[in-house]
Amino acid sequence: MQVTLADGERVDARIKGKRLKPVCGDRVAVEPLDMESDWLITAIEDRRSALTRPNMRGDIETLVANFDLLVVVAAPEPRPDWFIVDRYIGGAELNDADALLVMNKRDIGLDSYREELAYFAELGYGSLEVSAEQSLGLDALTTAVSGRTAVFVGQSGVGKSSLINCMIDGEPQRVASISDKHREGRHTTVNSAMLDLRGGGKLIDSPGVRDYAPGLTEDTNVQRVFVEIDKASSDCRFANCMHLKEPGCAVKDGVESGTISERRLESYRRLLRLKNDLTRGRY
Ligand code: GDP
Ligand code: ZN
Repeated sequence: MQVTLADGERVDARIKGKRLKPVCGDRVAVEPLDMESDWLITAIEDRRSALTRPNMRGDIETLVANFDLLVVVAAPEPRPDWFIVDRYIGGAELNDADALLVMNKRDIGLDSYREELAYFAELGYGSLEVSAEQSLGLDALTTAVSGRTAVFVGQSGVGKSSLINCMIDGEPQRVASISDKHREGRHTTVNSAMLDLRGGGKLIDSPGVRDYAPGLTEDTNVQRVFVEIDKASSDCRFANCMHLKEPGCAVKDGVESGTISERRLESYRRLLRLKNDLTRGRY
């Protein structure tokens, strides 16, 4: 594992003990080791955000930490699965991070998605139309990630790798982090790929993250994934309304009056079912 110290130097590091599991983007405390070039990671700072997913055993594992912008990439090919897009965006909501929708492959036409994009824009999620292949819209993307620590996610084949390659100089390096000036440990960021983007942003990448499925646990507040449903719910007759068949449901009213998209309500219900299956051990 590599960490970057505050002065920018990248060093190899080992982890103290078995319980520490640093991931890419983590800020960690490190100590120099006598007579060795390796450093020792002794602690992980609290994470401000983290992407998690269930592993093969059904445990939730953390993939990357401390991003503040989730770049959700979609394209006409493969066809957008909006349920997946909703879940990715929800990953940003649950982490108090921003989400940006990037529609790639603009060269093969995005007209049929404008309505969906306009709805997302109303919710506060901006979108950019780009083409990695034809270098269209990439300056706007560079500006959008400038000064941010971004994670790119999206279905396989939408062009994440192509976009990332357009936005970094040279070979992708699977490394990274930061420590304090005196190299005494404290405040160091870990690992597997933290890349510098042109224009000053950072990209955190790591195996599995580009097409991650957000971890869903019994504690996940599904409603929080859908901002407009969360907002409308304060007007539901029942405080614990699940927006299924309850009377006086403001979310259902919103769908009827056209302010809430029926597709998003369906998406919410689908995620809720997934969560209930999980709670019953059928996930
Ligand atoms: P990833 O799985 O999301 O990382 O997608 P890749 O970057 O591997 O790209 C998947 C495929 O889409 C490749 O064949 C790319 O050449 C193609 N592709 C990427 N960007 C564009 C684009 O802007 N326009 C078109 N037409 N194809 C693209
Ligand atoms: Zn309701």
